[in-house]
Amino acid sequence: MYRTHTCGELRISDVGKKVSLSGWVQRTRDKGFMLWVDLRDRYGITQLILNEEETPAELLEKARTLGREWVIQVEGEVIERASKNDKIPTGEIEIKVTALNVLNASKVPPFTIEEDTDGGDDLRMKYRYLDLRREGVRENMIFRSNLAIETRKYLAGSGFIEVETPNLIKSTPEGARDFVVPSRLNPGQFYALPQSPQTFKQILMVAGFDKYFQIVKCFRDEDLRADRQPEFTQIDCEMSFVTQEDILNTFEGLTRHLFKTTLDVELPSFPRMNYDDALRLYGSDKPDLRFGMEFVELNDIIKEQAVGFSVFESAELVAGICAKGIASAYSRKDIDKLTDWVKRPQIGAKGLVYVKFEEDGSIKTSVGKFYNDDLLKAWGELFGAEKGDMLFILSGELDKTRKQLGELRLELGRNLDLIKPGDYKPLWVVDFPLLEWDEDENRFFAMHHPFTSPKKADIEKMMSDDHEILKGLRADAYDLVINGAEIGGGSIRIHDRALQSKNFKLLGFTPEEAEEQFGFLLGAFEYGAPPHGGIAFGFDRLCAVLKGQTSIRDFIAFPKNNMGRDMMIDAPANVDKKQLDELYLDLKEIKSGE
Ligand code: ASP
Repeated sequence: MYRTHTCGELRISDVGKKVSLSGWVQRTRDKGFMLWVDLRDRYGITQLILNEEETPAELLEKARTLGREWVIQVEGEVIERASKNDKIPTGEIEIKVTALNVLNASKVPPFTIEEDTDGGDDLRMKYRYLDLRREGVRENMIFRSNLAIETRKYLAGSGFIEVETPNLIKSTPEGARDFVVPSRLNPGQFYALPQSPQTFKQILMVAGFDKYFQIVKCFRDEDLRADRQPEFTQIDCEMSFVTQEDILNTFEGLTRHLFKTTLDVELPSFPRMNYDDALRLYGSDKPDLRFGMEFVELNDIIKEQAVGFSVFESAELVAGICAKGIASAYSRKDIDKLTDWVKRPQIGAKGLVYVKFEEDGSIKTSVGKFYNDDLLKAWGELFGAEKGDMLFILSGELDKTRKQLGELRLELGRNLDLIKPGDYKPLWVVDFPLLEWDEDENRFFAMHHPFTSPKKADIEKMMSDDHEILKGLRADAYDLVINGAEIGGGSIRIHDRALQSKNFKLLGFTPEEAEEQFGFLLGAFEYGAPPHGGIAFGFDRLCAVLKGQTSIRDFIAFPKNNMGRDMMIDAPANVDKKQLDELYLDLKEIKSGE
């Protein structure tokens, strides 16, 4: 028998039992007359003890050969420890070893299997099986598993059925490039891997399934950022005969259930904010509401005051934020540092204006040449600023300035410790625009995806040719944001063939292209498509946000690196000529172009 117990199981009440354990050697400590081994498995660590007086010499000798990560099986008796360790649940006992079996030796691992490992990212990825032995990563994977199980419980309990949709499909546009797979049986033709199961779940609604969900892999060939993976997982859902309100309520319920069952956290209310307000007040469509600092726009007062400061007076937007109580502590050096920060190309502001309302009533500012104290006090009133507060103001083009100020707000939130650990602030952002104008390509793109329905009141306006009117179209589209991270998004869909065709037209599809790519969906709409809508949550991100971490990689068992490579199996990789020939692929051009 390999084991009677796991390495996380034995307690003081088990003293006297004869047991058998199996696991990995975390470390050994040899004091000569006494030898300890920390034995580890998924469930915990149990200390083994051997000593010169009681342990047969041969056994002690064998134990001295053990190295890190060797796999062993031991038999022995549970005894009370002389010096207890209150940091681990098994810390009151140890096992007096009477027999030891080496099940497998191990090379010395290339990094330590401990929380603060010395392994760099790529090394840990290459030896992911060792990295996954570390407690933190393992806990993350267990957490992910629990989250998936709770998701299934909640949705199944609400009448959803889980349906698998295919992975070898035709393009589903979610705004990224497709991964394609050549078809051997259909020379010269390719499948696309799904960017999402969007069209299939809509078809399931036409089929009358009413409530669908799937925890599903999606594939998007995008340039990778720290928080992106070419394949990632969604909790994907669709419902029939629902309004936006029904969907928001259902998924607020799911989110509450997940926080409650996995973290025992009762979430606060889920306020709603429309997209325009989110941009106007926070410069982002995913505002972090864990702290305030809403934007205040100064254009009107700047115009009234008209002191001749052209940087402000000619700007499309002058807006700022107020940091409470920092005026006296915020030094010249801090200001310079922050100014450099906003001027970095990633942020791109031209400069940063500050106003300090000092405790003694004096005012310090970088624009004192233009604005006297009375004028600045009038600004302060708009912000509700009190003595001790400090304003930071940016100006320039509307969209850019909002974005920059949004970044500045987050930076100050982090630097000034305004974000309390363990605080969760959910938010529904609603009323997204239907279309987004792309200056470079000179055409509209769907803000969410091409199947999103405009608001009923805006359907008429879709018939217009006027770009300004089209830009103003609102969609029944919504995002769930928690702590500034987009957890998920969805929309009410178009379920009418004519309206869907109109939308494709606005997005630049010819009728032939629309028919070729989405004829099946347009066709299905002619056979009794019910009104429907849905949502998808980014499952990897949801795991990370719940655990208060920033990297989704730490929640994926076998993630890819920034170049989209799997370092362990070394993929992507070349394939041999025969395979290419079978697929009618000729790589001559790539080879010579390398
Ligand atoms: N398919 C969408 C996405 O992947 C979600 C949805 O609209 O339900 O973002």
